[in-house]
Amino acid sequence: MNIDKKLLSWREAWRLNRRAFSLLYHRDKKAVISRMAGMVWSALTPYVGIYLSARLISALTEGADVTVIRTLVLLNLLSAAVISLTGAFLNKWKNTESSTLFYRNFQIYTEKMMTMDFADADSSRIHAMYSTIKQNYQGAGWGINLSYRHMEKLFSAIFTFSGGAALTISLFTSPVPDSAGGYSVLNSPLFLLMIAALMIAVTCLSPMLANKAESYIAVNADQHSLGNRLFGFFGLLGFENDLAADVRIYRQDVLCYRFSNDKNGIFCSKGMFARLARGPMGLYKAASSALSVVFTGAVYVFVCLKALGGAFGIGAVSQYVASITRLSKSIGGLIQTAGEMRNNASFLKLTFDFLDVPNRMYQGSLTVEKRIDRDYEIEFRNVSFKYPGSDTNALKNVSMKFKIGQRLAVVGMNGSGKTTFIKLLCRLYDPTEGEILLNGVNIKKYDYREYMSVFSIVFQDYSLFAYQLGQNVAVSVEYDREQAKQCLENAGFGQRFSELPEGLDTWLYKEFNEDGVEISGGESQMIALARTLYRDAPFIVLDEPTAALDPEAEFEVYTRFDDIVEDKTAVYISHRLASCRFCDVIAVFDHGQIIQQGTHEELVKDEKGKYHQLWYAQAQYYNE
Ligand code: ADP
Repeated sequence: MNIDKKLLSWREAWRLNRRAFSLLYHRDKKAVISRMAGMVWSALTPYVGIYLSARLISALTEGADVTVIRTLVLLNLLSAAVISLTGAFLNKWKNTESSTLFYRNFQIYTEKMMTMDFADADSSRIHAMYSTIKQNYQGAGWGINLSYRHMEKLFSAIFTFSGGAALTISLFTSPVPDSAGGYSVLNSPLFLLMIAALMIAVTCLSPMLANKAESYIAVNADQHSLGNRLFGFFGLLGFENDLAADVRIYRQDVLCYRFSNDKNGIFCSKGMFARLARGPMGLYKAASSALSVVFTGAVYVFVCLKALGGAFGIGAVSQYVASITRLSKSIGGLIQTAGEMRNNASFLKLTFDFLDVPNRMYQGSLTVEKRIDRDYEIEFRNVSFKYPGSDTNALKNVSMKFKIGQRLAVVGMNGSGKTTFIKLLCRLYDPTEGEILLNGVNIKKYDYREYMSVFSIVFQDYSLFAYQLGQNVAVSVEYDREQAKQCLENAGFGQRFSELPEGLDTWLYKEFNEDGVEISGGESQMIALARTLYRDAPFIVLDEPTAALDPEAEFEVYTRFDDIVEDKTAVYISHRLASCRFCDVIAVFDHGQIIQQGTHEELVKDEKGKYHQLWYAQAQYYNE
């Protein structure tokens, strides 16, 4: 997904930046306040030094009393110490409040992903949006995190400006005495106007040129992100553990060298950014720097002429030069920050477009009755479903009831609608037609989280974290250790568990702990199954739960399936029919419809039926 290449209007840019500031402030007030406090402090305090050292120089050149000089020296030292100590304290405060700030800000997106309608979260449009947001951040820091920087810069510029203005005003108001001859031209309002206009023009022009240079990167952000992505892949291929063997055998690294040696590559010497840097971008940057030197020159000439004319003493020269330079930099900073904020606005827009994706699914409020007897009944009534953007029905007029405590197998060829059936059951999507009822009430009317608490599911694409084993099973840091062990045992992990030196406290994988254990696909599937059992929900849904197990482990899970599932209602999805024999009812899906229902014995007898055909097609391999 590409960012709009046109810069947004100033008005729109300001609206988006204000919204970003407000969002960041409300998420973490302390972090924002600590950062701004540090900025205000470092913007204002240099003026204390400028003012006091100017007084000291004046006292020295004017031959003031030694006690006055001593007092000024002490004041200089004391103020420098207080400023530096307070600055260090504020810095520490800021660092403490901000230590995990950028990471925490990414939770903005995770929270949105978790709460948006699954249909959107699952859509390629949303994935493209999120991945563009991520790439823009990783590429050049664009997006919401940059707004911290902009808030700081704005604060800094405003306070630097105020301090600088306070110390500079008298430069323009203190006149050269009439006795100074030709220097008295410096008092002329016209001259003052001209010099002020020159300074303002140079002050404003310099950052404008810098912004223009910067905008080349913003409008080419898609190329910048692409370059980063390519580098992230090709440049770091050697560190990809999962690909190491493949890369070695096929010498894919040679392809990488072609990438990194290509001078026309995005970031390389003949690439587009290098060309821009040599061309307009570089010129704008150089002109911007040159203009700031012109400004300093003009300031020196003006201040020194006034001092020569006798408008003020030598001490004031240092004060005016230092404060007006800071003043000018602050105006420059303000303009530059405004430009950067405008450049960043398109990236903020994408972020807010993402955060504003509306929830369209009806959200009910009914609570689900908690029943110890697990007396929950689910019914699909004439349910049809089309995926968003698809013309064909993934499910067609499906009707069925789940009886309490029943083991139901859902079988069928790939693409026949099994997973879609489960997604509708879990209300990841709503039916296009028909309804699904829990204890006679349309599931839309229940509070979504309440409804979900009735289910425990192992999807084919489950994920375990590189945390401790027990924490993975319980999905919690505090948990019932006995229950976790029992669930692992029931899921077939007992043998392997007994070999783990740290038991439930064993770390999985090595990402966070070098003593962590690597587990096979089959073992991870057992742990995922144990996690499902630990949740102890009345409905348990297993989507190909034994696909990664070896035949022995798979057989063990089947034979103990009744013990594992206990009194829960179980839905078991598989395209391996042998694994469904133990179920009470088997529903055969074909092209989105349930075409047969019954026990294994009943279905296998129906020689014309799909189940018979599938069973014998698979059985021949087992017989051989
Ligand atoms: P199964 O689990 O039996 O393999 P699925 O329920 O995954 O089958 O798929 C049923 C039909 O829905 C298939 O035609 C598949 O291509 C389609 N389908 C599955 N997921 C999506 C999706 N996210 N968007 C559009 N079509 C989908």
